[in-house]
Amino acid sequence: MNISALTLQERIQEVESRVNAACRRSGRRREDVQVVAVTKRVSAAVTEEIIKQGFLHIGENRWQDATGKWNLLGSHGIWHFIGRLQTNKVKYVVGKFAYIHSLDRLSLAEEIEKRCVQTVQETQCFIQVNVSGEHSKFGLAPPQLFPFVEQLLPYKHLRIMGLMTMAPHEMDPQRTRPVFQKLRILKEQLNTEGILPYPLLHLSMGMSNDFEVAIEEGATWVRLGTVLVG
Ligand SMILES: *Cc1c(COP(=O)(O)O)cnc(C)c1O
Repeated sequence: MNISALTLQERIQEVESRVNAACRRSGRRREDVQVVAVTKRVSAAVTEEIIKQGFLHIGENRWQDATGKWNLLGSHGIWHFIGRLQTNKVKYVVGKFAYIHSLDRLSLAEEIEKRCVQTVQETQCFIQVNVSGEHSKFGLAPPQLFPFVEQLLPYKHLRIMGLMTMAPHEMDPQRTRPVFQKLRILKEQLNTEGILPYPLLHLSMGMSNDFEVAIEEGATWVRLGTVLVG
């Protein structure tokens, strides 16, 4: 085993024990929290190693960067598109990526639907919400969320899984907690209102800096780059 493989294994163990501890602290089951390994900053070789280590869910934020990896490794993983998605890139993403975490506008929903109809499949989508209101972040402002979800109803090939957010980078991750709480409450309100014919079950929230807080607040998917893959 070479040194970088060992380092990767150590990182995996570290992440696993931290995810476990956060689940225990919040009375959650480990199997209710899934990890998306974000490989956007690493090579296809490292991505392959990650998959071999048992991380089937792979996250990428740019199609241009992902395409080489997908061509090599596509059938070995389950791919999550986590970045801003341009409408004219949807044709590359639908059918290759099982999940899109960044649904944030109607024109995008329309294009995903169109591609799904053509290829006869569903795409699992998270609606991205800009809870913190930072200008640098994409996503719907919370007051736009309910009207947006109503507008999604005609798009039968979009399977809405839940909500996604990115918290601001904080030196003290505890300070991200209100952002995650807010996303959880928005999801609960959507389910209470029953706008969609099925409940939203998932929250995609938590990154390297703040995933433990996100898990404590109900994350079902954490998206981990640096802390896991280096
Ligand atoms: C890069 C990225 C991540 C992972 O970030 P780390 O801080 O490296 O864990 C998660 N989500 C999105 C949307 C990203 O772009």
